[in-house]
Amino acid sequence: MLKQVAEGVLIHQSEFCQSNAVVVHGRAGVLLIDAGVLGDEMAAVADDLRELGQPVVAGFSTHPHWDHLLWHPSLGAAPRYGTARCAATVRDRLPDARAKARVAEMMIPPDIVEQVPLDLLGLITGLPAEMAQIPWDGPQVRIIEHQAHAPGHAALLIEERGVLLAGDMLSDVLIPMLDLNDTADPIEDYLAALRLLEGAAGDVDVLVPGHGSIGGADQVRARIAQDRAYVHALRDAHVLSDPRVGPSAKDGWDWVAGVHAGQLQRLAQRSERDGTPG
Ligand SMILES: [Zn+2]
Repeated sequence: MLKQVAEGVLIHQSEFCQSNAVVVHGRAGVLLIDAGVLGDEMAAVADDLRELGQPVVAGFSTHPHWDHLLWHPSLGAAPRYGTARCAATVRDRLPDARAKARVAEMMIPPDIVEQVPLDLLGLITGLPAEMAQIPWDGPQVRIIEHQAHAPGHAALLIEERGVLLAGDMLSDVLIPMLDLNDTADPIEDYLAALRLLEGAAGDVDVLVPGHGSIGGADQVRARIAQDRAYVHALRDAHVLSDPRVGPSAKDGWDWVAGVHAGQLQRLAQRSERDGTPG
């Protein structure tokens, strides 16, 4: 069930969108990052941890999208964190039960909605912006915050284990999905975030994306280059050649082409609205 990817770092990959929940062993229990999506999967992770005698002592959500904000009662009542901006975005977007019902109706695929427990959705505490690490009793987990995929999105670097958790970036199956909501320059934000990750990831041996396959050291640079090429193609309206879009997409990921088309369309609308050349 849980699979070790580095010393003291384990993952559980969901059937839904290859979502990776990450467990980090600490001194008195584990840190659980992006806990999972399907209720029975999260309950199984909780069972595994109970068998190992490892309570969850802290949680973390990499960003304010529903599939990264879930929790299951059997995981216990540890504090769950996100960046300050992530938590503020959750408060804005999920002010009440009606908003939660809208998430269920409009964002969660109908075929799994019954299996996604929403009671504990988004109950996270924002960490002060100057806090550079997750506060917990275990290996240092550095927070690398950037604006690219979502407000307050955080990648996490566990330096002493050589692990980078990339959130919804650096995936082998998902293209860069830009935050086109309230951002002035989504393309430059994304490129800046890739530079930030490039600067931080020099000694990384294991790359864990929020969705997709685990990568080795060579994959860090390769996926940064691939994401950068995608964003450049969007910016410069180049013909796209990206293995994640089109017939080369992995099985079950053909919908990514639709995401790409949607991004092209929204960027074109923005440049029309702003009067800037496409
Ligand atoms: Zn996301």
